Amino acid sequence: MADSAGPNERAGPVATVASTQILIVGGGPAGAAAAYWLAREGHSVTIVEKRTFPRNKSCGDALTPRAVRQLHDMGLADTFATSHRFEGVRVTGLGRDLTLQWPEHPDYGRHGYVVRRAELDTIVAANAVSAGATLLQGHEAVRPLVSRGFVRGAVVQGPTGPPFEVMAKYVVVADGANSRFGRNLGTTRSQEWPFGAAIRTYWETPRHTEPWIESALDLRDRNDRVVPGYGWVFPAGDGTANIGVGLLSTFRDFKTVNTAHLLQAYVERIAERWEIDPGEPLRKAVSGRIPMGGSVAPTAGPTYLVVGDAAGVVSPFNGDGIDYAYETGRLAADVLHEALATNDASALQHYSKQLDERYGQYFKVARLFARIVGRPLVIRELTRIGMHNRTLMEWVLRIMSNELRPDETGPAELAYRAAAAIARLAPNA
Ligand SMILES: Cc1cc2nc3c(=O)[nH]c(=O)nc-3n(C[C@H](O)[C@H](O)[C@H](O)COP(=O)(O)OP(=O)(O)OC[C@H]3O[C@@H](n4cnc5c(N)ncnc54)[C@H](O)[C@@H]3O)c2cc1C
Repeated sequence: MADSAGPNERAGPVATVASTQILIVGGGPAGAAAAYWLAREGHSVTIVEKRTFPRNKSCGDALTPRAVRQLHDMGLADTFATSHRFEGVRVTGLGRDLTLQWPEHPDYGRHGYVVRRAELDTIVAANAVSAGATLLQGHEAVRPLVSRGFVRGAVVQGPTGPPFEVMAKYVVVADGANSRFGRNLGTTRSQEWPFGAAIRTYWETPRHTEPWIESALDLRDRNDRVVPGYGWVFPAGDGTANIGVGLLSTFRDFKTVNTAHLLQAYVERIAERWEIDPGEPLRKAVSGRIPMGGSVAPTAGPTYLVVGDAAGVVSPFNGDGIDYAYETGRLAADVLHEALATNDASALQHYSKQLDERYGQYFKVARLFARIVGRPLVIRELTRIGMHNRTLMEWVLRIMSNELRPDETGPAELAYRAAAAIARLAPNA
């Protein structure tokens, strides 16, 4: 890694030099969680967030029980107690539907929330500030500061004035799916691994208070052709529902699918049931790419760690990433706390191993699944089998929501172990 340009090169004059123990690039779920846990330990933490809260983020806004657990651990149980709560998932497909309650698990509750990201991320970032972190909104980390091969902070551009340097002992890269800052440090995404694409917007619906999120397995395009992906309706409890579609890059025709058209075709199919006017979304649909399955490496350097979407830590089973963003932010904070407390930077090297221990095998199974369901005929057949078998779908939900029990072995755990045994033999792709 080359040393960064001097203060007066490239980006023009660099004004003040600020310093912090930990600089966090990005104030989304991963960055805010890392900041919260580090600030609580008394470390000096600065988050730079290029946008200003409340900011929108293309998302389904659904928080799984894993995400709810992290919010509770961050002391936010009361804050979200009145948010729109859901008890599980209604799966639809081939003219049938199955309503599945979240599984029981010793570590997680049996409900999730739908909270718009503008609200959610504002609250979680403010919580990090209450714990002692400094949040610089409207501030973009434009490039890393590198000295003798070590990342030592970033050049930051605020809303006005010249860029300035923020020096830090450690840097957390939490800049989301595109992760320009991470790429500047040399992170890369395995191009041949599966990734996702999704699009969503909001519609008014009188059914906005329903306590189930809905997921459709039989997505079809405007010409009624099966598209291997899923559609969702996430009632938000505020007069609206977040409605979107997602698909995987493992689908042969992935590059030619127009996701806006796919969303429109989906909305037209569900309009009557959800009593919505398909021609009247409340705002323009916004799409996003989703790196998944731990597809980004390296996730740690001598003085930096990579968290959340920037590390590709999103489930290929369902595209959920808020929960993993909170979890990896927390994991990174634990590792950095150890490094600061012991004055030993080698602690950072434990992070990638911990990510692998927690998610490595699970993501490998999920990537294999993503390859299998990328075929229209396969997804159709699996949907047909699943929609006739509630018990099977309950196992599938337990596996897909990553809620396998550590304390007992049921059919879902056995099914997962069999899949993991197969995945172990499969190439790492
Ligand atoms: C359409 C869609 C639907 C989805 N639905 C769901 C869902 O329902 N549930 C779920 O769990 N997950 C969902 N996901 C995934 C989820 O949105 C992400 O996994 C999650 O946002 C990851 O959080 P993050 O903090 O890593 O990244 P982000 O939320 O993207 O946050 C990164 C932040 O970094 C800031 N930033 C970027 N570069 C810089 C820079 N250089 N300097 C300063 N700041 C910077 C950005 O402005 C942003 O605020 C969905 C994704 C998409 C695209």
